[in-house]
Amino acid sequence: MSQITRREFAGTLATATTAATLNAQPARPRIKITDLRCAIIGKSPTIRIVTDQGISGFGQAESYKPYLKPMVLFYKDYLIGEDPTDVERVMLKIRRLGAFKPWGAAVSAIEIALWDLAGKAAGVPVYKLLGGKIRDKVRAYNGGVRFPMTGNMPRDYAEIAGKMKDAKEGFTLIKQAVGFHNQAMMKAIPGAWYDDPRTGASHPDRGLMTERGMDHVVACVEAMKKVLGKDIGLALDCGPGWMVKDAITFAKAMEPLHITWLEDLITGDYTPYPNAELFREVTMSTSVPIHTGEQIYLRQNFKDLIEKQAVNVVGPDPEDVGGLAETKWIAEYADLHGILIAPHGIFDGLIGLAAHVHLAAALPQNYIAFEYPLGQPEWWYQIIDGLPDPIMKQGFIDVWDKPGLGVTFNVRAARKYLAEEDRGFFD
Ligand SMILES: [Mg+2]
Repeated sequence: MSQITRREFAGTLATATTAATLNAQPARPRIKITDLRCAIIGKSPTIRIVTDQGISGFGQAESYKPYLKPMVLFYKDYLIGEDPTDVERVMLKIRRLGAFKPWGAAVSAIEIALWDLAGKAAGVPVYKLLGGKIRDKVRAYNGGVRFPMTGNMPRDYAEIAGKMKDAKEGFTLIKQAVGFHNQAMMKAIPGAWYDDPRTGASHPDRGLMTERGMDHVVACVEAMKKVLGKDIGLALDCGPGWMVKDAITFAKAMEPLHITWLEDLITGDYTPYPNAELFREVTMSTSVPIHTGEQIYLRQNFKDLIEKQAVNVVGPDPEDVGGLAETKWIAEYADLHGILIAPHGIFDGLIGLAAHVHLAAALPQNYIAFEYPLGQPEWWYQIIDGLPDPIMKQGFIDVWDKPGLGVTFNVRAARKYLAEEDRGFFD
């Protein structure tokens, strides 16, 4: 307080308080939730929280989870009559009633719709409610812009790396599926690991790799890296399914290539537990950043990974982990422990994209990039207004300032994609 005296400072405060009191608007009537609706648009569970004051909040779950609709509506009775601008008080009612992927998605999408509403009610963009932005443009990485492949040999991976490098979005960071995360890559070499291939839910294979299998995966990555050079980062989505020693061998082979991160080597995707001890063994054995977290629900389940330094990068998906505030909390806690964050998001859709942009604007400096979601099917780009055009420029998205998430439905265009049972979604 060198410029003004304490007395002057107190006087300034008193004047400000008096002015604020005199200018105070009458308290806004309490806003109440009157309905929670869910329509499957494409395959995307889309959420609308309706209020008694003519404003609604929208959220969205991953675009291939239409089966979540009854799960979303299960929460309706908990929400009716609540004030949606008290986001945390509403979340205390429903947060306990969720689980690891895919069962945390409904709670997460509702949380995002609440922030959209709270922002609209306050007339401010969601990033302001998350603490304010620390960056005006946010980096997103390529997880979903893909091109048809002619095979699964190193030359084929080199070819698609070239196409992704030239993509119109101008990505500065690309993620590629390899190893057990890429069944086609593993099946291209007979006997790539010591077990039979499995069928069923995604990425079911697991086992010790053969020398041939390991060499093939390494060769595919080397081929991609050669094309991408030093200007575009390469991250690898690897599993789950690797044995710890294979994971270490692979990580060491990746060290000279300066790979941005190795994702989900041990657990991941739909594994309903993180297994921090095994991740830690891998992390302590290599200089390549080790990453996991897209399937995890709630901050409590990141505690071990973060406190034990089990990974170098966490990758919660806001649409699975419990929402935007949940992800922000994890990011801050990770930052306190020297751990980075790169939120997962490939299937989060266009409302999800908007949510990611607001969140990324407000995340601390341990933020790397979020995974860029696409409109799926393609006509989603016609039914959502408010996104920048083009959305990405040189791998970044400019943060916008409209209230809430700042995107709205073009109702006329969207209505024709509603199923008969969802006809009342916009009315
Ligand atoms: Mg992944």
